[in-house]
Amino acid sequence: MKVYKFTIGTFAVNNYLIQSETSNKAILIDAGEAPQPILNKIQSLGLELVYLINTHGHGDHIAGNATIIRETGAKLLIHPLDEPYLRDPTLNLSAFLGARLESPPADGFLEEGDEVTVDDIRLRVLHTPGHTPGHITLVGENLAFVGDVIFYEGIGRTDFPRSDHNQLLQTIRTKIYTLPDEMNLLPGHGPETTVAHEKRHNPFVRG
Ligand SMILES: [Zn+2]
Ligand SMILES: [Zn+2]
Repeated sequence: MKVYKFTIGTFAVNNYLIQSETSNKAILIDAGEAPQPILNKIQSLGLELVYLINTHGHGDHIAGNATIIRETGAKLLIHPLDEPYLRDPTLNLSAFLGARLESPPADGFLEEGDEVTVDDIRLRVLHTPGHTPGHITLVGENLAFVGDVIFYEGIGRTDFPRSDHNQLLQTIRTKIYTLPDEMNLLPGHGPETTVAHEKRHNPFVRG
C-alpha cells in the first residue's frame, strides 16, 4: 500500500491517504478541516475512496468528514465508544471554539481485533483508549496509524472530557510498545517515529 500524508487545518492534523498497490481503491485515516488537498489528490489519481476511518472523535480529526463523504461517498468507520463525539460539540471540543461541529453518522464500527481490508490494504484494529475512550490504532504490515495516542517523544493530552491518563499510559505499554521495534508510528500530529525510538526516548513512558 502507498501512503500520502497531509497536514491540514488550524491544529495541523496529519491525515493519511492509503492507496492500494493493485487497484484504484483507497482508505483515508482522519479528515481535518479544509480537506481540499486530499480531494485534489483523490481526483488526480482517480481513486475510489472506500472508507474514511476516524482514529477518534475529536474535532480536529473529524472536521472534514462531511466534505469528504459528500464528495467521495466513502463509508465512515469509528469505534462505538467515540461515536457520540460525532454529534456532540462538547465531546468533540468544537463547542470550546464556538463552532459546534457535527459529522455525518457512522456507517459501521471498528473494535479490537477487527480487520479492514480493501484489496491489498490490510489494517488490523487495536483499541487504544485513554486520550478518548474509543480511540483506535490501525496497524499495517510495517506501520501503525496511532492518532493521538503517542507522538514523536510525546503522548496524547488527557485533560479533555472522558480522557484517562492512567489508561493512556497502560495503552502505550500494552498495545504500542508490544508492536515490533522497527514498526513506524504515524501519529495524528507531528513527525513519524518508531516503536524503538519511543521506548528509548519518550519522556512520558519508557519501554
Ligand atoms: Zn484528539
Ligand atoms: Zn488531534
